[in-house]
Parts: sequence; C-alpha cells; structure tokens
Amino acid sequence: MITIKEKAKCSGCYSCINICPKKCIEMREDEEGFEYPVVNKNVCINCNLCEKHCPIENKERNIEEPIAYAAINKNEEIRRESSSGGMFTLLAEAILDKGGVVYGAAFNDEYIVEHIKVTQKEDLKLLRGSKYVQSKIGTIYEDVRDSLQNGKWVYFTGTPCQVDGLLTYLGKEDSHLICQDIVCHGVPSPKIWKWYLKQIKLNNARISFRDKSTGWESYSFTINQKKKFTQYASDNLYMRAFVKNLSLRPSCYECQSKGIKRKSDITLGDFWGINKVCPEMQDGKGTSLIFVSSEKGIRLLNEIKDKIELRKVTIADAVKYNPAIIVSSSQPTERTEFMKKIGKGKFNKITYRYVKDPFLLRMKIMIYRAIHRK
Ligand SMILES: Cc1cc2nc3c(=O)[nH]c(=O)nc-3n(C[C@H](O)[C@H](O)[C@H](O)COP(=O)(O)OP(=O)(O)OC[C@H]3O[C@@H](n4cnc5c(N)ncnc54)[C@H](O)[C@@H]3O)c2cc1C
Repeated sequence: MITIKEKAKCSGCYSCINICPKKCIEMREDEEGFEYPVVNKNVCINCNLCEKHCPIENKERNIEEPIAYAAINKNEEIRRESSSGGMFTLLAEAILDKGGVVYGAAFNDEYIVEHIKVTQKEDLKLLRGSKYVQSKIGTIYEDVRDSLQNGKWVYFTGTPCQVDGLLTYLGKEDSHLICQDIVCHGVPSPKIWKWYLKQIKLNNARISFRDKSTGWESYSFTINQKKKFTQYASDNLYMRAFVKNLSLRPSCYECQSKGIKRKSDITLGDFWGINKVCPEMQDGKGTSLIFVSSEKGIRLLNEIKDKIELRKVTIADAVKYNPAIIVSSSQPTERTEFMKKIGKGKFNKITYRYVKDPFLLRMKIMIYRAIHRK
C-alpha cells in the first residue's frame, strides 16, 4: 500500500488513484495546497498495484538520445495564442485528423486547472497556452486507457511527471499513444493560485500567463474580461513567486522526470537563445524547442512538415540556454516561511515581501524597458 514518507518524492501524478481496483485511494490537499494520496485502510485489499504502478518505483527511460529541432508554426494566429512556437496545436490536430482524442490541461469554470479530453479541433483552444498551476489529473488515465482499448489514437500532453504517471499506470507500450511532455520549470500550488485570484473579480475571464502582445521573451500576464488587465510577467506578483521558485511543489526541486532522455515521444519547450543558435528562426513571436524521442514521434512530426518552419539543431545548443530541460529549480530558503503565510492576509501584500527585487535591479529593468519601448 502506498504511503508517502518523503513528500519531495511524490509528484502527485494520480497513477495510484487510477490503478486502484477498490477505489480506496483519495488525493488530499496539504497545507501548501498540493495533493498527496491517502489510502483508506479499511477498504484496501493490499494488492500493491498502487506501488507497482508508481513512477517513483519505475524509473526506466528511453535509451536513445532524442533528435532536437527549432520550430515555428506558420499559422500566425495560432502561434500568437500559444506560449512558444505553437507546435502543440499542430501535433494535436494531426491526431484529431485520424479520429483520435487529445488530453491536456484547461481551466474549469472556477479557473482551476485540470486535465480534460478534447475531440474537436475548435476545442483545442481550451488547452492552448501554458497554465502555471499544477493541473489535476483526476481519473483521466482511465479515460486514456479506454480510448486506446477502443482503437483510438491518443495524444496525451502534460508535465514530464504526468507523462511518467500515465505510462506507469498503463504499464505497456501502445502503438496508438503519443505522449508529449513539456520542458518544465515546476508547478505552482493550486492553493496559491486561488489565493491570488481572491483579490480579482472574475467573470467570464480569459487568463493568459504568456500573453505575447508585449513580446515572446518579455511576455505579460493578462486577464481578459470586460476590462483587460495586463501586467508584465516580471511585474506580476503571482508570476514572480513562480519564477523565483517560491510556489513550486516539493518534488519539483528534485524532479525525477526531467533530463534529455525521457519517457515521452515528444518534448516541447521555448527555444530560449534561438537568436544565437539559429538567428533566422527568431522573429520575437515565439520559437519552439522540440525533442523527438521515438519513431512514432518522428512520423507525427513528418505529417505536419508543410505547416512549420523546422531546423535541426544539436542537443548541446538546445540545452545551452534552457537549463530547465535538465536541472531542477532550486529551492529558496524563504519558501518554507512563504508557504506558511498562504491565505493569511492579502496575497499582494504578503507576496511582495518575498519577491521584491533589489533597488539596482529594479532600475536596470526600468531602463531596459524605456530603451526597448516601441
Ligand atoms: C508549468 C509549466 C512550466 C513550464 N516551464 C518551462 C520552462 O521552464 N522552459 C521551457 O522552455 N518551457 C516551459 N514550459 C513549456 C512552454 O511554456 C510551452 O508549454 C511549450 O513550449 C508548448 O508550447 P506551444 O507553443 O507548443 O503550445 P501551447 O499551446 O502553448 O501549449 C499548451 C500545452 O501545454 C499544456 N499545459 C498547459 N498548462 C499545463 C499545466 N499546468 N500542466 C500540464 N500541461 C500543461 C497543455 O495541455 C497544452 O498541451 C512550461 C509549461 C508549463 C505548463
């Protein structure tokens, strides 16, 4: 039976919840707002499937190194709505064209991020764009298994630990399953996200963590409702807590799922440093970094070849400016204190104390913006 001895080992992937034949494991939120499995011992039959299908116990990876690319979706509108080069939408559309289904992270009506299934191209907009909150998996792995058993093509997208969770849940290869993970900085606490939202009145709002109207590299956080709220991500306190690693899940500081060789077929990220590696692929509107790790992944990428600009690059060049591919975020010493303050006062007032930049850095940012203002 699964017991969490070290919180930093559990990524909250939900594999145990999905595999349990007695449905006697539930996810419970801790004081930081992250969910961990808790077994109802009165119902548990000690079958140990939860442990056998836990990714922490199953660490094998792809053997081959991936092939690395820089890529841009030629559709300008989709690329603008996407966080990087807009590759996710094209790859997902190729699966829908085969009558398949796509799983990914979306906001629900209460602005909580959770994994959903999409079967129509027009609904891919729900998944488009990075949401910097840990997404709830729920029982979606069971749904993936059912889709595969019904002979459907499946495109599953999530953090590397969610892909690991799905694959250890399934326990076997499936020729119709494409897993696409992301380069991941780490996932913030849903409780901190709710705390942040408490100070804003939301009504039919569209939230973007990566609005490109101020540029791909200097992106903004926006809430689009009757009145549009826009703030440079580097000014927004929720985003600053994220970037400064204050709000991340304990397992993100020692991520077991990142690295060059992963379990997924495809990995997507931002191609930071593209202006140095491949300047002709840099136009300030977003360039994707792609790792393709399997034959299935190569075939899918080939299917969308005409709709993208694609350049092969070396792994070394891809990793050089994007350490999040291989290195976990470091845990700041103030994190413990910050976490204890969640919900105990106004978000902005408390968080500002922990994310404030030194005076000289603030001046540097102001000067940079004044020079680069269009
Ligand atoms: C929490 C988080 C941290 C990230 N950190 C980095 C980083 O440090 N460096 C880097 O290069 N790239 C990072 N990315 C990835 C990057 O922001 C883009 O998501 C990726 O490049 C795909 O972009 P796209 O333009 O192809 O498509 P987009 O349309 O932008 O991609 C959206 C995809 O991301 C998935 N997604 C969105 N939010 C979540 C979530 N909360 N949990 C799981 N899946 C989600 C959706 O299901 C969809 O598949 C991060 C993404 C997330 C969600």
